[in-house]
Amino acid sequence: MSIVKPFKALKHLAKHPHTVRYPYQKHTDIEGTDLPTERYRGFHSNNIETCIGCQLCAKVCPANAITYVKIENAGKKGLKWRPVIDYGRCCYCGFCTDICPTKSLILTPRYELVTEKIEEFKFIPTLQVREKKDKAIDISEVIFSPEEYKPPQEKAKD
Ligand code: SF4
Ligand code: SF4
Repeated sequence: MSIVKPFKALKHLAKHPHTVRYPYQKHTDIEGTDLPTERYRGFHSNNIETCIGCQLCAKVCPANAITYVKIENAGKKGLKWRPVIDYGRCCYCGFCTDICPTKSLILTPRYELVTEKIEEFKFIPTLQVREKKDKAIDISEVIFSPEEYKPPQEKAKD
């Protein structure tokens, strides 16, 4: 082992760290917001009007994080299955958005969610997640229809 090596580390003392002191500091690459880059993988957004309820997103999910609820009049008339994401399980891999045939499901750069209730980490992603870019998610806005929420073990059968 070289005796010079420990001294090489000293040059890093004068450099700025690559990390930030979250939550006191944030990466703010998207202008005018507290959000990181456009390609950052945060919470999902789903256009429930163009989603066809095909359930491919749940089939490819390696974390088993996607279940479904029936929503009245989403798209065409009647009850339609739409995805619910469990953020206690999701690893933000993006497989579900890659396979989505209608591209209704995307990942947004939003990543902050403040709640005391563990069940509120499961929500039906809607367009609001995409549109409100400036701050942490307000859970009352993204839970589309909490009374229709079904726990993860109840998967859609049709
Ligand atoms: S989000 Fe996409 S993949 Fe998932 S059910 Fe809707 S259309 Fe199908
Ligand atoms: S991003 Fe990956 S882990 Fe998260 S819901 Fe989609 S497929 Fe599952």
